[in-house]
Amino acid sequence: MSDCLFCRIVAGDVPSSEVLSSATTYAFRDVNPGAPTHVLVVPREHIVDAAAITSDHRNVLTEMFQAAQQVAALEHLSERGYRLVFNVGPESGNSVPHLHLHVLGGRPMSWPPG
Ligand code: AMP
Repeated sequence: MSDCLFCRIVAGDVPSSEVLSSATTYAFRDVNPGAPTHVLVVPREHIVDAAAITSDHRNVLTEMFQAAQQVAALEHLSERGYRLVFNVGPESGNSVPHLHLHVLGGRPMSWPPG
């Protein structure tokens, strides 16, 4: 979708700081990090958000979680722990309508989040 920011990042039309790339997913650093490591894992195909997921998306979801595991390993977070977040809808703060998995780590985190 030409008017979707993350589709434009995946296409290389908007610059990003790449962490990982595969045929199905792309991972890049969040421009406004909320933790020392803050990486976004997105599917290359346009999916609006987690509320739009169906059983047709099982492969892409598996690949997104595998990408998040790889990001955690690359960022030396596998042992110390990290947080995975999907924001859905306005009250969550979701701002970009293209499915993205936040990978956050590198500092202790409180629960529940603010
Ligand atoms: P969400 O609030 O869950 O929709 O997350 C969207 C995230 O995208 C926010 O954390 C933003 O900081 C991040 N973001 C917005 N524009 C860009 C960009 N051009 N490059 C990297 N991250 C971005």
